[in-house]
Amino acid sequence: MEISPPLSRRDVTFDSVADVIVVGMGAAGACAAIEAKEAGADVLVIERTSGGGGSSAMAGGYVYFGGGTRVQKANGFEDSPQEMFKYIMAVTPEPNAEKIRLYCDHSVAHFDWMERQGVPFNDRFFPGKDPEHPEPTRPCPGPATRRPGRSRTSPSLSRAATRSASTARRPMR
Ligand SMILES: Cc1cc2nc3c(=O)[nH]c(=O)nc-3n(C[C@H](O)[C@H](O)[C@H](O)COP(=O)(O)OP(=O)(O)OC[C@H]3O[C@@H](n4cnc5c(N)ncnc54)[C@H](O)[C@@H]3O)c2cc1C
Repeated sequence: MEISPPLSRRDVTFDSVADVIVVGMGAAGACAAIEAKEAGADVLVIERTSGGGGSSAMAGGYVYFGGGTRVQKANGFEDSPQEMFKYIMAVTPEPNAEKIRLYCDHSVAHFDWMERQGVPFNDRFFPGKDPEHPEPTRPCPGPATRRPGRSRTSPSLSRAATRSASTARRPMR
């Protein structure tokens, strides 16, 4: 296959104009493009491969939402942006508090946004780590089997609820 040499900047011409140009059509690019379009912008998405997807299309489908999503509530788990923040800060090596705070404060809104785009989330609690690759993990008690007095937002429970209950019904493939 013959590979063309790169063009000099002088020889590059542009024949498209857009209010917003999104470079890369993975999940981040797709979300940015949808939001820009909904805000009324004329949007152009540029993708270097033959189709969109990127590493998002290979992802297992775990979407890390928490802070009190509809799915958490449906499974009887109380959570809040502050509890989510405390948990992620505790388990992240060298955490960036500002970014984690932003992520947690908007997590419920992001969940709602994803649902509005048509991403299906089921309301079932999965007491393990990965429904597709079950492994012998420590059982995590669901709401019905929890021992009295145990915090409803303990890190392990919060983690399981967040990871498992918010798992998208189908992986993004
Ligand atoms: C096997 C696997 C499993 C994973 N599972 C999970 C999971 O279960 N849960 C989770 O939260 N995360 C998971 N991840 C991580 C997650 O997939 C990524 O963090 C996320 O997809 C990154 O999204 P993105 O939009 O930033 O990048 P990408 O989805 O990679 O999109 C970037 C896009 O930009 C394009 N691009 C790059 N450079 C240019 C350029 N110069 N010009 C034009 N286009 C360009 C690329 O071709 C690509 O399409 C997984 C990752 C892998 C690889």
